[in-house]
Amino acid sequence: MIELRSDTFTRPGQPMLEAMMTAEVGDDVFGEDPTVIALEEKLATMFGMEAGLFCPSGTMTNQIAIRVHTRPQDDVICDRHAHIYLYEGGGIMANAGASVSLLAGDRGRINAQQVADALKPDDVHAPVSRLVSLENTMNKGGGSIYDFAEIIKIKEVVDKHGLKFHLDGARLFNALVESGDDMKAYGKVFDTISICLSKGLGAPVGSVLIGNKTDIKRARRVRKVFGGGMRQAGFLAAAGLYALDNNIERLKEDHARARAIGKALESCAFVTGIMPIDTNILIFSTDDVPGVLHKLATKGVLGIAFGPNQVRFVTHLDFTDAHLEKLLKILKEV
Ligand SMILES: *Cc1c(COP(=O)(O)O)cnc(C)c1O
Repeated sequence: MIELRSDTFTRPGQPMLEAMMTAEVGDDVFGEDPTVIALEEKLATMFGMEAGLFCPSGTMTNQIAIRVHTRPQDDVICDRHAHIYLYEGGGIMANAGASVSLLAGDRGRINAQQVADALKPDDVHAPVSRLVSLENTMNKGGGSIYDFAEIIKIKEVVDKHGLKFHLDGARLFNALVESGDDMKAYGKVFDTISICLSKGLGAPVGSVLIGNKTDIKRARRVRKVFGGGMRQAGFLAAAGLYALDNNIERLKEDHARARAIGKALESCAFVTGIMPIDTNILIFSTDDVPGVLHKLATKGVLGIAFGPNQVRFVTHLDFTDAHLEKLLKILKEV
């Protein structure tokens, strides 16, 4: 099977498994797992931030951040297609008791003017504007990348109005290897950043939330009440450390393969449009999503429906040049 449904389908290879099996571990709820501590410190240091918190999923790191930054009756500002809103089960409301202002961004990227326009008046009728959350790369936007200059402009609005600033960076490294932007500059701008190890980086499980010591201390308490305190989690953190050491630069290969697929799709009769391909996510339109997905599946190619007229492919560590060659042949036959 050619697996293109998501970059979460990767399985750890032998060297990653070895790193996991030989990890030094302890009870992380007691703060005594040296491998978890090493992973949290490594990511925090990479971004010039003070502390990190290892969690089972990206949903949990995002939801913890929202809970840490807001109180009930507060308002979160994000794009209408943001993962934190669309794919986290209503957690903004359920976990934080907050409301949300949804903006219509450009392929999921909102701008400073939109944020300024979404601010609520200081009036008892309105929720309290508290948190701005961005997503980079933007999943629903087809893996689109934020222009860092725009992030700085949004940060000016955030600071002017005393708001908090979170980044859902599930695929932040996909953005950084393309843009060449500075990790430490990101660390300076955001209060918290959530990073997935289980997407393009290829670890089986895990995400890390980074921020300052005060926020991460509070986040640790929220993680406990969400049931995310794990014991000998170092076995999993070791996979994350291995991924950070070995799998960042190679993300560019995934992007190149996504572009190659995009080029082939241009001459497919069933394709009515293709979103620009900035990273490892490729979204194309077609009039018959179930039909196309079925036809592809019979030939061993798996993608997912991404809206009524759209199909999503995601390239990853386990999608090789051999798979690409085979796929290009199949696309000619469909
Ligand atoms: C995958 C993803 C997450 C986290 O998802 P989990 O499956 O909970 O790890 C968060 N944000 C974005 C943009 C994602 O694509």
